[in-house]
Amino acid sequence: MKEIHINHYQGLGSLNFIKDILNINNAKRVFMVTGMNSFNLSTVHQTINSYFQERAVCHFNEFSHNPKLYDVCRGIDLLKQFNADIVVAIGGGSVIDMAKLINTLAAQSNRYTDIIKKKSQIMSKGVPLIAIPTTAGSGSEATKFAVVYIDGVKFSLEHIYLLPDYSIVDPMLTTTMSAHLTAITGLDALAQAIESYWSIRSTDESKSYAAQAISMILPSFQTAVHEGIIQAREKMSYAANLAGKAINISKTTGPHALSYALTSQLNIAHGHAVALTLGKFFLLNSDLENVELNEMRGREYLKVTLNELYKLLSCKDAAECSKKIYDLMENVGVESNFNNLGITKKWHIDCLISNVNLDRLNNNPVKITKGILEDIFRCH
Ligand SMILES: [Zn+2]
Repeated sequence: MKEIHINHYQGLGSLNFIKDILNINNAKRVFMVTGMNSFNLSTVHQTINSYFQERAVCHFNEFSHNPKLYDVCRGIDLLKQFNADIVVAIGGGSVIDMAKLINTLAAQSNRYTDIIKKKSQIMSKGVPLIAIPTTAGSGSEATKFAVVYIDGVKFSLEHIYLLPDYSIVDPMLTTTMSAHLTAITGLDALAQAIESYWSIRSTDESKSYAAQAISMILPSFQTAVHEGIIQAREKMSYAANLAGKAINISKTTGPHALSYALTSQLNIAHGHAVALTLGKFFLLNSDLENVELNEMRGREYLKVTLNELYKLLSCKDAAECSKKIYDLMENVGVESNFNNLGITKKWHIDCLISNVNLDRLNNNPVKITKGILEDIFRCH
């Protein structure tokens, strides 16, 4: 298999590179994937359209949030009919994941459900894909993963062919985000960086990306949410991309494992769902006397790693970090109390636990039992 890497462009105005990329690839038929409403309303729409002049464009934007397989299949049919020679994804994490899924699955001869359920493999690469995030959150433009839901059950597809060929991180595109969207996408980026740092699959490289991301997010996050100034948005955009590069190596851990149940069962937005248990996981992962480890590098290694993480958050211990996360959520206007989100009954909790993603839970440095899960959902 040929080595694949992303050609990455970033900075204010870097959206212009799209012209060069289209020319280099001699692209004549562009399959464009965007969100349903946001794109048509944005000024980016006009700029992008001017780049596409003299090229045929097929625009796919009719799909719901959090990619569903039936929407992916509609996209695949369109892509094939149109005979695209390049795919351009402009949007948040769901939009970029959708484009990755359509482009890659369209190139396979095996049944899509078999591939998603890991009964057969991805064998071929799709056409070149340009990923252009309009939020500072998921880092999907930097990863070989894509999330897809089948009948409410979340699957994470992973393959090097899902990695975009090009990524353009132009912070100008994030200026139309509301304060709430800036808050929940920023929390996702922060959680991804923190989880990557303590993940059992972390490497020196992934930890360096994660540390840079945390150091950029903390001083800029609240300014980006409350004032929306471009310098803060710029830092958030680059940090989200770095956090994406970090999880591309290390994957995510406990908070992400639990978040998919909160999203599919209660419709809580991804970044919000992830942040809900992040503070709790600081306490769980640092309680090293009373738990079994998944981390093969041992207790001493984990202690050192967690201490480094506390320093990155300018805190002295796990309790301070946990409080910092909850304070941050409150400051940016994101509800952190499970009761207030409607999780009040035992069957709510049982339902959430039965939908937890075990794959990502096993990346968590300490083992999480069913009893611990009940405790997490019962109180924050
Ligand atoms: Zn995430």
